[in-house]
Amino acid sequence: MNNSKIWLSSPHMGGTEEKYVKEAFDTNWVAPLGPNVNGFENDLKEYLNEEVHVGALSSGTAAIHLGLILLGVQAGDEVICQSMTFSASANPIMYLGATPIFIDSEPDTWNICPNALEKAIVERISKGKKPKAIIGVHLYGMPYNIEEINKITNKYSIPILEDSAEALGSSYKNQKCGTFGEIGILSFNGNKIITTSGGGAIVMKNKEVKDQAVFLSTQARDNTPHYQHSHVGYNYRMSNICAGIGRGQMEVLDEHIQLRRNMHEFYVDYFKEIEGVNILIEPNSDYFSNHWLSAIVIDPQKANGKTREDLRLAFENENIESRPLWKPMHLQPIFQEFPYYGNKVAETLFENGLCLPSGSNLTDEEKNRIKEVLNNFFK
Ligand SMILES: *Cc1c(COP(=O)(O)O)cnc(C)c1O
Repeated sequence: MNNSKIWLSSPHMGGTEEKYVKEAFDTNWVAPLGPNVNGFENDLKEYLNEEVHVGALSSGTAAIHLGLILLGVQAGDEVICQSMTFSASANPIMYLGATPIFIDSEPDTWNICPNALEKAIVERISKGKKPKAIIGVHLYGMPYNIEEINKITNKYSIPILEDSAEALGSSYKNQKCGTFGEIGILSFNGNKIITTSGGGAIVMKNKEVKDQAVFLSTQARDNTPHYQHSHVGYNYRMSNICAGIGRGQMEVLDEHIQLRRNMHEFYVDYFKEIEGVNILIEPNSDYFSNHWLSAIVIDPQKANGKTREDLRLAFENENIESRPLWKPMHLQPIFQEFPYYGNKVAETLFENGLCLPSGSNLTDEEKNRIKEVLNNFFK
């Protein structure tokens, strides 16, 4: 029997990527700018919403770093961040010498909890420091509670940086994720919903901010014939080669989202009959998730003592990758000294949660291997 590795989420090429990359070679646009970069930015803009402006960058992490700079975050400022996320959401706060304030998740979306958020804002203000920005994350493609979070950010006038690295193609009330925040960011790393092999984008509401983002991401060179600099610059622009891959990937994005959603449906069906397992689903029809990763929570007390770690090992035995949910930032050695507001929702999710193989390229044979592991484990 074929026992090749089944990945959690692996690159899935559509077929036209090489055409764009070849064009870049043929025209010698092998640089961090060029027609593919402009083309990819336009594709993204068209896909998200004609009103926004998009800058293609070298990574999602670079986009968060630039985003915080554009929001005026400086050393000594406080920045609020969803605790349950990938460390790349929070690391740029540290690059800037600012202080992260971590917020728990809510049970419905697993994302930033509106109650804990407001409590934190009120308390930080009472201590004399108003948070400079809020980083909210659409984990696994599930939009955070945009309506409630927006009410709070409006009430206190604090801008939100929307980490949409995992949520390209997700939407809330028919508006695409990445376009809700003052700044939005996307990632095209190898295992994301589309990939440029490595890359990211920053999404902004106006042209001036985009120009500033591009300026900073290309070493902040003043408009003089010699190299003159009045700002600290960064080398964060996307290469024209990577952008070529991105243009090809945009042609299959919606199809790949449908395949991810089918994969999610496969698990929803399966776990209907299994006691003690809950799968992350959209709380109501306002939410539309790309279901980048399908994720479950196992309650060992209701599942005959079975734990998520038992299931992870059962998959590993069959050469199938699965992964615990993101370990919350306030539990990480590097971040544990920083303030945290919440009620252990994220901690409990982390203890009992597992991400399942969710690629848009899984074959029927691979789905059967996954199902067999689940059958042996639960039945
Ligand atoms: C992947 C990811 C990032 C970082 O994106 P890169 O392109 O890998 O730098 C940031 N936030 C979240 C939630 C992510 O999943």
